[in-house]
Amino acid sequence: MIVSADAGMRSGKVVAYKPLLDEAIKLAAHKPSKVLLVDRGLSPMEKTAGRDVDYALREKHLNTVVPCVWVDSTHPSYTLYTSGTTGKPKGVQRDTGGYAVALAASMKHIFCGNAGETYFSTSDIGWVVGHSYIIYGPLIAGMATIMYEGLPTRPDAGIWWSLVEKYKVTVMFSAPTAVRVLKKQDPAFLTKYDLSSLRALFLAGEPLDEPTAKWIADSLGKPIIDNYWQTETGWPILTIANGVEKKPSKFGSPGVAMYGYDVRLIDETTGEQVKEPNQKGVVAIAGPLPPGCMQTVWRDDARFVKTYWQSIPGQQLYSTFDWGIKDEDGYFFILGRTDDVINVAGHRLGTREIEESISSHPAVAEVAVVGVADQLKGPWRWPSRC
Ligand code: AMP
Repeated sequence: MIVSADAGMRSGKVVAYKPLLDEAIKLAAHKPSKVLLVDRGLSPMEKTAGRDVDYALREKHLNTVVPCVWVDSTHPSYTLYTSGTTGKPKGVQRDTGGYAVALAASMKHIFCGNAGETYFSTSDIGWVVGHSYIIYGPLIAGMATIMYEGLPTRPDAGIWWSLVEKYKVTVMFSAPTAVRVLKKQDPAFLTKYDLSSLRALFLAGEPLDEPTAKWIADSLGKPIIDNYWQTETGWPILTIANGVEKKPSKFGSPGVAMYGYDVRLIDETTGEQVKEPNQKGVVAIAGPLPPGCMQTVWRDDARFVKTYWQSIPGQQLYSTFDWGIKDEDGYFFILGRTDDVINVAGHRLGTREIEESISSHPAVAEVAVVGVADQLKGPWRWPSRC
């Protein structure tokens, strides 16, 4: 069964889903027997007789008790597709029991959310943050969860903070990009609402540059907690677990390795661990991966092994494909993707490092660094991550 709606809204614009869905089903080799449709009154729908079911019918079934279906802990709960920069996307397959345990533990130890409170993740349920921390994590923890459809700037840049006030949000999760969008708006929106319920703002998904982190920390007057992870892991690899042990955050660092993750920095040429603090290496994880991480690539165990576990010479370690360094105190700093490198006259420059230095200028709100082919200094090629 597919559950969908007539349409969604993006920046005040109606996006009709039903025609897209009908076309997708037409192309699909495996067709759903039923499509359950919520009519939000945004866009007229044509129903396919015998297949499309109206959500309004639920009134008839409101008191139906549906028994739990017991499955093995290793039973797949879902697949989420994540891109390689080349080739076909990989279906990240997640189990059921391990994932539930990992999320429950992270809600307690990392996000410090309590049953009865409200969690607000500004992500989208189609992304891994949405799966883990809009749906499963908060609900497993007994929290109410907010799903917000729309941009952080409509009807105005105070919309998120008005939701925090209205629903007494205690834990919030967003992305640095969204903060940079808000940074371009009137800062008065950040002080207009009562944010006293909010204990911390977690940010993830991309590097949190120091100017952005400082701006939001100063504007909100709340702890900003960076956390680093991937679709593949389902929950943070690096962050600060204040529910286990209170630790200060360091600007520019997502934090320290989380319980369950044996994180190592590997010299890409020798496959050995880097020896000194602050020495750059590939961020790798020694197996076994902790609960919650991917089981395999959907229907492609060989690709799972080859892509993730055989890219480091001479050792079977999980590669994140990110560069990182670790300082004397065990705090990691992520320097960008191993394939995100621009070759200028033989010098390999990390895009993240260039972006960070430009964005440290107070007049700069956002930076994107891209490679451009140059006859003299080197042609630009697509990176080769599989
Ligand atoms: P995705 O699987 O699409 O969620 O992307 C995961 C990648 O995003 C990681 O491998 C990192 O390159 C990047 N990433 C995610 N969170 C952070 C963070 N807190 N700091 C730096 N990079 C991050």
